[in-house]
Amino acid sequence: MFSAICQDGIVARALANDLFNLDLINPRDFTTDNYRRIDDKTFGGGAGMVMKLEPLELALASIKCKYQQKGLKKTKVVYLSPQGKKTDQAVINQLSLYDGVTFVCGRYEGIDERFIQRNVDLELSIGDFVVSGGELPTMLLIDAVVRQLPGAMNSYESVINDSFMNGLLDCPHYTIPRDYNGDKVPEVLFSGNHEQIRKWRLQQSLWRTYQRRPELLASKQLTKEESRLLDEILSRNKVEGK
Ligand code: SAM
Repeated sequence: MFSAICQDGIVARALANDLFNLDLINPRDFTTDNYRRIDDKTFGGGAGMVMKLEPLELALASIKCKYQQKGLKKTKVVYLSPQGKKTDQAVINQLSLYDGVTFVCGRYEGIDERFIQRNVDLELSIGDFVVSGGELPTMLLIDAVVRQLPGAMNSYESVINDSFMNGLLDCPHYTIPRDYNGDKVPEVLFSGNHEQIRKWRLQQSLWRTYQRRPELLASKQLTKEESRLLDEILSRNKVEGK
């Protein structure tokens, strides 16, 4: 599954340029029975299988051994779970500070609870819905962390201006044509005045966040300039009945 991010795009390029390292570990390689069984029936009866504790613990021990050999000290074990803390940009920023993160991907009904209790530092969810396995959620998290690494993107500026990076949503973006059957790109973007363009973008970000994610604004300490720009666009749009 991980070829989806390892063969194309920003993560693949970062991997090729050694900006980070990705080890894919198959817990099946740590089974001890002839059938290499990774799952078994759930105790207490009922539908669905559960991932077994022992192969996961052996796999984790092998990862910890690698961390030690490489001298990686600040590490974390994350279990992807719909029951975990909902992932946001702050969580991604935190993850990017670790030397190594082990993402444990569940399948079936999930993994034996004792593995979680014994080994997992943090449970993370990608949202209040259930997918079939932890691999896709893990790939999302890896992409979100890696694109922030210095050198991963052609332009670091576009990373720091992305939604959530400064607690706001990003401003709208436009490209050619300038006029699409009368639907025109805002004039200020052609002014050549960088300060005016910066202010327009900041104001649009504030307005979008106010409209779409007011709770983000409520938890952000606005600068004097941001408060002024927001007040200005609020009263202008009130007059225009928006
Ligand atoms: N029975 C589990 C529950 O209801 O909490 C769901 C199991 S799910 C079918 C199988 C695996 O997919 C989980 O162990 C987890 O690793 C992953 N998964 C599913 N939804 C997820 C989500 N929203 N966020 C992160 N991981 C998820």
